[in-house]
Amino acid sequence: MASVSVITVPAFTDSRSQVHHFFGTKQHTLAHDLGIGTPMRGVHGAAPSAWTLSVKQVHGTEALVVDRALSATDRFVGGWDALVTNQPGVMVAVRTADCVPILMHDPVQGVVAAIHAGWRGAVGAIVPKTLALLEERFGSHPKQVRLSIGPSAGVCCYEVDEPVLERVRLEVPSWKKVVRIGNGGKAKLNLKGLIKEQALAYGAVAQAISTVNLCTICHEDLFFSYRREGKVNGTMISAIGLPPKRR
Ligand SMILES: [Zn+2]
Repeated sequence: MASVSVITVPAFTDSRSQVHHFFGTKQHTLAHDLGIGTPMRGVHGAAPSAWTLSVKQVHGTEALVVDRALSATDRFVGGWDALVTNQPGVMVAVRTADCVPILMHDPVQGVVAAIHAGWRGAVGAIVPKTLALLEERFGSHPKQVRLSIGPSAGVCCYEVDEPVLERVRLEVPSWKKVVRIGNGGKAKLNLKGLIKEQALAYGAVAQAISTVNLCTICHEDLFFSYRREGKVNGTMISAIGLPPKRR
């Protein structure tokens, strides 16, 4: 019986201003049915009193900013692939199977973000756009933002066809660094690498970016995978939030 429930990274745990975060696995998800657009309490990995919010994801690049306290009666109707909050006790969460979950924390301004990015969101520059939003809205200099790129389809397995490649070549100047041509001539895309390149190009610093180098397609024991399973059997939950205020 696997005992891994959630994955955490040192990048977010060495800070004096503590932040709660996790990248979920299959085992974690089986214990949770996260409401869509409805804040939920009691998610494992979050503080017991924290709200966890996940919303409908649409493979776009728009962000929902939560800048007020949440309650059980809140409903967020709409689609967003980035969630940003400066509210203590609010965990922003994304759901992924092969797409990339990205968590961000600016310990200086006290703001966090959770992002869902497949190839569409990545090519649409959701990560630089979210960094820009953090800067404009909260004064977060990209140099002070910590980022972690979570488990997702890896370059070992993630084959893409010509229409996808064409978009990547058009939109990503450094595309040669993130496309690998396999033995059979099939192209594989390094989605995690692409996102890291974009974050660096925007001004994030390499030391502040960590990558969980686990592939959701390879690791059947740990993750659901749309590619491997051919259908949606489940999604992993990844979340980040500032701790609730002590009363
Ligand atoms: Zn793989």
